[in-house]
Amino acid sequence: MKEIVCKLLVIGAGPGGYICAIRAGQLGVDTVIVEAGKAGGTCLNIGCIPSKALIHAAEEFDKVRHMSSASDVLGISVEQPKLDLAQTVRWKDGIVGRLNSGVLGLLRKAKVKIVHGPARFRDGKTVEVETETGTQVIRAETVVIATGSEPVELPSLPFGGPVISSTEALSLTTVPKRLVVVGGGYIGLELGTAFAKMGAEVTVVEATPQILPQYDAELVKPVAKRLAELGVQVLTDTKAKGLSGQGDALLIETADGREQSLPADRILVTVGRRPRTEGWGLEELDLDRAGRFIRIDDRCRTSMRGVHAIGDVTGEPMLAHRAMAQGEMVAEIVAGRKRSWDKRSIPAVCFTDPEIVTAGLSPDEARDQGLEVRIGQFPFTANGRAMTTQSEDGFVRVVARADTNLVLGLQAVGAGISELSSAFSLALEMGARLEDIAGTIHAHPTRSEGLQEAALKALGHALHI
Ligand code: FAD
Ligand code: NAD
Repeated sequence: MKEIVCKLLVIGAGPGGYICAIRAGQLGVDTVIVEAGKAGGTCLNIGCIPSKALIHAAEEFDKVRHMSSASDVLGISVEQPKLDLAQTVRWKDGIVGRLNSGVLGLLRKAKVKIVHGPARFRDGKTVEVETETGTQVIRAETVVIATGSEPVELPSLPFGGPVISSTEALSLTTVPKRLVVVGGGYIGLELGTAFAKMGAEVTVVEATPQILPQYDAELVKPVAKRLAELGVQVLTDTKAKGLSGQGDALLIETADGREQSLPADRILVTVGRRPRTEGWGLEELDLDRAGRFIRIDDRCRTSMRGVHAIGDVTGEPMLAHRAMAQGEMVAEIVAGRKRSWDKRSIPAVCFTDPEIVTAGLSPDEARDQGLEVRIGQFPFTANGRAMTTQSEDGFVRVVARADTNLVLGLQAVGAGISELSSAFSLALEMGARLEDIAGTIHAHPTRSEGLQEAALKALGHALHI
């Protein structure tokens, strides 16, 4: 049996693992990374990147379709467009392939050794990897678990046949005529919207009283309005019960206890993701858990000395940029630098139509912490750029301490608003006050002027409303 001894072993080459390995390599740490699938993990292969590619293609198709209808006001006329989803998926796969090679190249440049195959723990410092050329044993001083997450399966709707997860949804080569989405969260709404724009009849079944229950109702309202415009049927307070006998419909129970059958060609189940912690020897290490996730401290240390965990396997928020930030921090700790988790916010973006972006505390979260707050909200109906891009729905909102004007949180909903996430995070990390945002010149005409106006509004003197 071949054996490698190294200082750092990273298990999983998703955004958490590959960033950790690259940074460790840059710092001269002798690093090995093991990956069972493709470099880039969920995010790059079956998550963030392919979903955004599909969302973009769907948006372009919908735009042209709208132009071809009589209701277009821009004066552009085009023929009714057609969509070849198989070609769209080939284009998406091309982007994924380029990024795959990019990640492998960056790992090599940082002198990280890459081992392909599934890792299995022998003990807290040793793993066995089944590679194409036989079993490889790797011993390390420090191990980083970055094995990510996988879709939750509903016992009443196991994956297979018409019941698909996001992974299959991202590789369909024809648009389903009737798509039922179970779970109106991030994935369900991002992909549900994309398929509606590509021409599917979409129904969303959500168990709670509101779609995107993680966001406040005001932020979700423009998204719900757009879904209605796209003809998406949204059933809240509704539970999925199982597949019909013929497998061509979803059986549901509505809020008032009625059973109903929703005809469907595909049923996309997006009810959350669970950590990949089973079936590869991790159970025997008996690490402390936080629910199903691995419990970590502010340095991503687990309950076992020399074993760190990062990314989705450590719990919410399951976001790629959180995994990357944890990976970078752990690499520096392994290299001997003093680091701990000191981030003020992890921004979140939901790539629905319109997009939602949040960073820091919402008004309710701030009040729940006993803080007296000042809130400023600026609507895009009063923003010139929003008018000239035909998408006036939405707003920017700022939440600040009433006594010091320290900005506690920023939220927005609007077309293309995801790009404001960096301004939001920067404001929070730099400890900005309302006066800092209000006193910064924001270029005209841009949607970002809404941020300055929201701060001015909170200070009591907005200029454009
Ligand atoms: P992962 O990316 O899951 O990577 C873990 C890696 O470990 C995998 O490559 C896996 O093959 C490997 N592995 C597992 N077990 C073993 C083993 N025993 N041996 C060897 N290798 C192993 N997040 C965002 O921030 N923005 C988005 O827009 C976004 N969109 C998403 C869209 C979809 C459809 C999905 C599913 C997710 C999306 N996410 C998004 C979430 C994001 O993908 C995850 O938060 C991120 O990938 C987590 O990174 P990670 O490194 O923790 O794990
Ligand atoms: P989610 O937690 O966002 O949404 C799941 C939804 O399913 C919830 O609204 C929940 O109430 C509902 N639900 C649960 N059980 C149900 C049932 N039996 N019937 C009907 N509805 C049910 O989960 P997701 O959409 O699967 O996404 C998983 C994770 O991936 C997210 O937590 C997020 O961190 C990440 N992600 C992020 C992005 C992004 O950053 N833009 C995009 C996609 C995914």
